[in-house]
Amino acid sequence: MSTVAAYAAPSAGAPLERTTIERRPVGEHDVQIEIKYAGICHSDIHQARGEWGNQIFPMVPGHEIAGVVTATGPGVTRFAVGDRVGVGCMVDSCRECENCRAGLEQYCLKGFVDTYNGIDRAGNPTYGGYSTHIVVDENFVLRIPDGLSLQEAAPLLCAGITTYSPLRHWNAGPGKRVAVVGLGGLGHMAVKIAHALGAEVTVLSQTLRKKDDGLKLGADHYHATGDPATFEQLAGRFDLLLCTVSARLDLDAYLGLLKTDGVLANVGAPEEPVSLNVFSLIFGRRSLAGSAIGGIAETQEMLDFCAEHGLGAEIELIRADQINEAWERVLNSDVRYRFVIDAATI
Ligand SMILES: [Zn+2]
Ligand SMILES: [Zn+2]
Repeated sequence: MSTVAAYAAPSAGAPLERTTIERRPVGEHDVQIEIKYAGICHSDIHQARGEWGNQIFPMVPGHEIAGVVTATGPGVTRFAVGDRVGVGCMVDSCRECENCRAGLEQYCLKGFVDTYNGIDRAGNPTYGGYSTHIVVDENFVLRIPDGLSLQEAAPLLCAGITTYSPLRHWNAGPGKRVAVVGLGGLGHMAVKIAHALGAEVTVLSQTLRKKDDGLKLGADHYHATGDPATFEQLAGRFDLLLCTVSARLDLDAYLGLLKTDGVLANVGAPEEPVSLNVFSLIFGRRSLAGSAIGGIAETQEMLDFCAEHGLGAEIELIRADQINEAWERVLNSDVRYRFVIDAATI
């Protein structure tokens, strides 16, 4: 065991405080990572505030981790000390079920092990990236290509893969019209990736406040959903709508923006159940879908793709003692577009 510094929420809704946690010894197939940067994801806040049930406290959030390998177990074959690596939302899965065998560890039929707020194979709680070191099985460690800075790569481990996977699955590319709903942490990566994949990209945001940013990030068009004329003007236009917001939307109105066979894919979710008129799906053979992060192999593919196309996250680097303040700003949508903690300040 090793004792390392971390920022933890001692109980649901309490501010984060500096503390220490124990990391397991480096096992046969483990990689020990010195964390350099950790991104702040909106889900960190939901979980630390006890909004998603079954929370484990104290909680050390963080599943957008970038760092450098400082030790490897004797059975590790893919990583060496000094390698630049990342860890995302998962640190283990059953590895035996149909989905795990297909590289879809995010849909492990027994449930994957969350990077934090989870229970590992040994029965111990997992602690995330708001800390100085982490020990992870090499099969759940990603390689960060040289073309990406560690600080801009960190948010790719959740925001990047959460948008890349559905864009790939539903074939965003040349000749396809993709609309990204919401221009926040997820949305800004969705715009960059969809543009790099060759799709015609539209941002649908409540207002035109971030229009200049959206166009700079790679969007071809930008429309305000607060303006009812938008829904008339864009009716039947898109192959894919990628919804990155957790606000409750008028699904019938959004489904009306899809072409025949179009898909509305959700990566953000409102807390309450939603309703829709099923005729919105029937006429136009449209689909309402969802997607969660991506598998490990696909996450590596995403990192390589982002490096090749020069796509890092747009970040605001903060000190660890600014985390609580940053969380408030995330809740107020006051971040362009991801906070990243400098782990050297923990
Ligand atoms: Zn996340
Ligand atoms: Zn599995």
